[in-house]
Amino acid sequence: MRLVQIGRISNGQSNGACPGAAHAASPLRDPSNRTIRYVRISLTDHCNYRCTYCMPDEGAEYGARSDVLSFDELERLVRALTLFGIADFRLTGGEPTIRRDLVDLVGRLSAIHSISGDPIRLSMTTNGEALESLALPLFQAGLGRLTVSLDTLDVRRFREITRRGDLERVVRGLDAARNAGFSPIKLNVVAIRGFNDAEIGSLCRFAWDRGIVPRFIELMPMADGRLFAPGESMSAADVRRALVEELGAELAPDEGEGIAGLGPARYWRVTSGAYAQRRLGTIAAMTENFCSGCNRIRISATGQIHACLANDAVQDLRRALRAGDDPGVESALRAALGEKREGHFFESNGRGGPRKPMISIGG
Ligand code: SAM
Ligand code: SF4
Repeated sequence: MRLVQIGRISNGQSNGACPGAAHAASPLRDPSNRTIRYVRISLTDHCNYRCTYCMPDEGAEYGARSDVLSFDELERLVRALTLFGIADFRLTGGEPTIRRDLVDLVGRLSAIHSISGDPIRLSMTTNGEALESLALPLFQAGLGRLTVSLDTLDVRRFREITRRGDLERVVRGLDAARNAGFSPIKLNVVAIRGFNDAEIGSLCRFAWDRGIVPRFIELMPMADGRLFAPGESMSAADVRRALVEELGAELAPDEGEGIAGLGPARYWRVTSGAYAQRRLGTIAAMTENFCSGCNRIRISATGQIHACLANDAVQDLRRALRAGDDPGVESALRAALGEKREGHFFESNGRGGPRKPMISIGG
C-alpha cells in the first residue's frame, strides 16, 4: 500500500495540531511477520563518556556533522513514522543530553500525535551526567519516561568503566529526575563478571530505595568483538541467582502493572523479605533470545535505518527525508524491514555481531 500522507505531514498540515487528520499507511512488517511498533532514534553519535563496552577511548568514527538529522528533519521523521501506527519513540545516542537545545526538540516531538489521536509516547535513555539541570525542563517539555545507565556504585570503578564519568553527578541527576516527576525511572546496568558481579544486590537496593527499577543487561559483542572480553559475560540467570542468594528470597516472573515496556526486558518480583514486591528486569540477548518478539528499528543520528542492532546492514533515510521525497522515505523503511533477519548471530566468544560499535548504531 502506498504511503499517502507524508507529504501533508512534511508541510506541517497534519498530525500535530490536528490529530487524526492524517491517514494511516499499512503497518511496517518484516518477512518474519513481526510488526514494528517502536523506534529508537539516536540524536548524536558523540558522548561525554567512553564506556569500555560501547566505544573506544580514542579513534571512534563519527558521522559528518552535516549528515546529522536536524530538528526539522527529526520532527518530520517522527510525524511520518506515526502514519505506520508507531506511537512509541525513544531518544538515545550516543548521549542524547549533549545535543544542543534538547529541551526544545523534546517539546516539538512530544506535541506530535499518533494516528489514534493521542500524543506519542516519548522516552529517553541517558547516562544521567546532565540530568541535574535537565530533568525538570525535559519533564515539563513532555518527556514521558526515563532510563538512566549506571553500572557501579563505586567511584573508582565508575570512572574506570566510563573513562570520564562523575558518579556523584549521576546520583544527583537521578534525584533530580525523581523530583521532577519521572516515574518509574529505570536503571540500566550492564552485568560484567569481575567488574560489578558483586554489586548486583547493592545496585538493586540503591534503585529500590529510590523507587527505581533496576535492569541488568547482558554484555553484547558489538564492534566485531573488539570491545568484548568473553570471560566478562554474566548471564541473566546468573544475575538472578546472585540476587536470590544475597536477598535470601525467591524471584517470581512479573509482567504486570505497567512495568513491562515494549522492549525485550523480562521482569521479576522479589517474593518475600525486606524488599518483597520490588521489581527488577533482565535483558538477555545472549542467553534468552528474544528476537522472535522484536518490534523495533533504530534510526542512527545520520538517518540510517538499522533494522537489527546486531547487523551492520542499513538503509539510508536521510536522502529521502532531506529531499522531501515521501515515497522514498517509505521505500527506505520497507527495504530495511525486508532485510531484517530472523535473529542475531551473537556468539559468546565475541563473534557474530556488527562491525560497528553500539554508539554508532544508537543504543
Ligand atoms: N548514552 C546513553 C546511555 O548510556 O544510557 C544512551 C546510549 S547507550 C548506547 C544505551 C544503552 O546501551 C546503555 O544502557 C548502555 O549501557 C548499553 N550498552 C552499550 N554498549 C553495550 C554492549 N556492548 N552490551 C550491552 N549493552 C550495551
Ligand atoms: Fe556514552 Fe552511553 Fe555509550 Fe556510555 S553507553 S559511551 S554513556 S553512549
